[in-house]
Amino acid sequence: DVICRYVNGIGAVQGGAVLASFQDVTHLEQAVQMRRDFVANVSHELRTPLTALMGFIETLRGPARDDPAARDRFLAIMEGEAGRMNRLVGDLLSLNRVESEERVRPKDQVNLTGTLEETITSLRPLAEGAEVQLSLAAPEEPVFVIGDADQLRQVFTNLIENAIKYGGRGGRVDAVLSASDRDPAVRGPAARVQVIDKGPGIDPVHLPRLTERFYRADNHRSRELGGTGLGLAIVKHIINRHRGRLRVESELGQGSVFTVILPR
Ligand code: ADP
Repeated sequence: DVICRYVNGIGAVQGGAVLASFQDVTHLEQAVQMRRDFVANVSHELRTPLTALMGFIETLRGPARDDPAARDRFLAIMEGEAGRMNRLVGDLLSLNRVESEERVRPKDQVNLTGTLEETITSLRPLAEGAEVQLSLAAPEEPVFVIGDADQLRQVFTNLIENAIKYGGRGGRVDAVLSASDRDPAVRGPAARVQVIDKGPGIDPVHLPRLTERFYRADNHRSRELGGTGLGLAIVKHIINRHRGRLRVESELGQGSVFTVILPR
């Protein structure tokens, strides 16, 4: 798209619109720079677990060779690091897919109520492991939107998983679905899904950048919890594809509310 605009821009120069072409070159440079940053980020993210794996292989060959207890401990850590790489590659592939589909309008009738129920059911074990109470409130009548069911399930999974992960042990996470005939956010009939946690919240300075790839509000916590830093970037592209909106409200020490607004 950027290259197309660039070429159109050159056409415009011949037609006399010099300003348009300057803007388009800037777009192109920005896109090239973003790609470079992305490749650097991905390399760094992959290298971290890889370095750990290589270090542990070395240790298993050397000092820990005859120590079964140490060997088991190191193998468990290695498994965790390999899992991290696997999640990262999985999320990179998802991001690639959702980006490439962003311009194709989804066209299935999706039962949002059912999709949310399925998501909650599949996340129950994670919630139970973290001693988090997970609830869904929805209108009696199922709520439908035109969309892509798998992608919307991915949106709710990422948001609810984050709420469980960051919300903290022993807390609660509420998903609330509602529908209205006119929602100002999309200027028409819409469905809203709110994911509410009572966790530590997010410092407001981070909110504008939260959906950028690899942006983390709390780097240490995200890595400790096995986050890839791509979950909200994936969410953003899927919501864009659905012509929807994502809102984040958060207060330190109070918790966070992630709201997805989808046109109906
Ligand atoms: P990650 O894989 O790191 O969780 P995401 O893209 O899903 O990446 O989220 C980006 C960052 O936003 C996280 O690293 C975390 O700092 C912050 N975040 C997301 N959801 C929450 C939440 N419910 N509570 C607190 N912080 C959150």
